Amino acid sequence: MQRGIAASPGIVIGKALVLSQEDFCIKKRRLLEEEVEEEIARFQEALNITKQELITIRDKVNTRLGTKHASIFEAYLLVLEDPMLVGETMEKVRKEKINIEYAFSQTIAKFVHVFTTMGDEYLRERGHDIQDLGKRVLHILLGEKRQILTHLKEDVIIVANDLTPSDTVQMREEKILGFITNMGGKTSHTAIMAQSLGIPAVVGLKDITAKVQNGDQIILDGYEGFVIVNPSDEILEEYEKRNKKYQEIQRQLNKLKDLPAVTQDGREVELVANIEIPDEVELALRQGAKGIGLFRTEFIFLNRADLPGEEEQTKVYRNMAKKMAPYAVIIRTLDLGGDKLTEQLGTTVETNPFLGLRAIRLCLKHPDLFKTQLRAILQASTSGNLKIMYPMISTVEEVIKANRILEQVKEELKKEHIDFNPNIEVGAMIETPSAALTADVIAKEVDFMSIGTNDLIQYTIAVDRGNEKVAYLYEPMHPSILRQIKHVIEAGHREGKWVGLCGEMASEPELTLILLGMGLDEFSMGSASIPKIKKMVRESTMNQAKEMVNTILELPTVDAIKKFLKQNKILVEENI
Ligand code: PEP
Ligand code: MG
Repeated sequence: MQRGIAASPGIVIGKALVLSQEDFCIKKRRLLEEEVEEEIARFQEALNITKQELITIRDKVNTRLGTKHASIFEAYLLVLEDPMLVGETMEKVRKEKINIEYAFSQTIAKFVHVFTTMGDEYLRERGHDIQDLGKRVLHILLGEKRQILTHLKEDVIIVANDLTPSDTVQMREEKILGFITNMGGKTSHTAIMAQSLGIPAVVGLKDITAKVQNGDQIILDGYEGFVIVNPSDEILEEYEKRNKKYQEIQRQLNKLKDLPAVTQDGREVELVANIEIPDEVELALRQGAKGIGLFRTEFIFLNRADLPGEEEQTKVYRNMAKKMAPYAVIIRTLDLGGDKLTEQLGTTVETNPFLGLRAIRLCLKHPDLFKTQLRAILQASTSGNLKIMYPMISTVEEVIKANRILEQVKEELKKEHIDFNPNIEVGAMIETPSAALTADVIAKEVDFMSIGTNDLIQYTIAVDRGNEKVAYLYEPMHPSILRQIKHVIEAGHREGKWVGLCGEMASEPELTLILLGMGLDEFSMGSASIPKIKKMVRESTMNQAKEMVNTILELPTVDAIKKFLKQNKILVEENI
């Protein structure tokens, strides 16, 4: 049994499919006659880029390590210009009218086979060089789109070093029961994406790819964060029982769907959903969500070479507004780093993107990008109850600047005689310590605030939320986090503004009482968690919650807080 981090709930049992980090599974596509020469040109361009890359590497290696080590790159350059390799690939494209990636991968596979089956060790090694080189060129041809998860013939559990959110999003169309990875943390976007797609996942398993072979049987327990490889019959039976138990608990929780989230002494709070893909609105409604507290719009910007235009975005937001009405949908403006939009914005990859030009910073730097999104939200606002929320605020000036741009956009729409809701509410995400500590100032500029604890924890404790090596430090119950949350809620209320929380903390039942006691107005979470949080709210009283907060805020350490919660039976071993 191997323990990792429970990233997305559910138990699944299935066969392992181990992805090597570099695996590609390339789809064959037929070309139209007129596409053939374009495809050849794309190939030549990819070869040129690869050549430039190799020359740079060769020169660097040459100065640092000498010509002996650099000679490998000379060999690569020769292969790159090999008339057979290049010529045969082009001929394939022209004759068979198939896409270049497919044609090239076939030629590479043939060459690799010829070389790696040769008797001479030197030539066998050259086979590996060709393989490596092929991957370089294919990376360029495929861009960011790793097409690893297509063509699956049977249900599998994916085993990988790491997966990007865009890999994860592809999974819903494939036969994937769940996934387990070496890397990653509970609030990494890959984990969040898995939750919204309902795919059980365990991440942060460190070396699981080395311990599992293709075809091994795997039990993935996404509730507890365990993985068992090739289990005995007894264990399999035990897990099947557990699974039934969890499903029964879920059935009971579902009965609460239409009941309000109100404490025993009458305080009602909003339980709303976080979503990443517009289709999730239906699921949110089925789970009893009374609105969308966070729509992570960045997912409509990913996995494409262009930017979504005003019309396209308006359509997406309008559909959601209609489906959720009369409930509110909070649209978070783009929360991406420039590193994710290098092609579209001409930005460069930064060495430290988490502290770089991302989210509201990127939008203020590229006002056209921001304005397009604001225009789309405003236009869609006539079809329901939409609100706007700015991510990654670190100074009040950013809110003021963003609001100024919003006002400009409203003026433009007015001049163009385009309808919108002029009183659309605007909120700020509080997810940096600088915003939390100045929440009293920020509250004056907005209609609401929503605490993004996933990042607030990352930036307060200085712990990368996606790094399993430091996951032990990533702790929502750290006194520094609890104090900031209380401070933000009080600061908002003093200004008469409501305060929500849309980080993963909102979905943890052992924290519900604390957040209630602090006066939180809105809890926003992955839809699947809404029923269990509602159960907690309905079983609580505000007196009990406030008393608990008073005690907890006096406790000096996470351990002391956890001990207290265990004594009060709020923290139990199997809290699903
Ligand atoms: C957060 O940081 O808590 C949050 C909700 O935003 P995201 O997880 O998308 O960074
Ligand atoms: Mg965030």
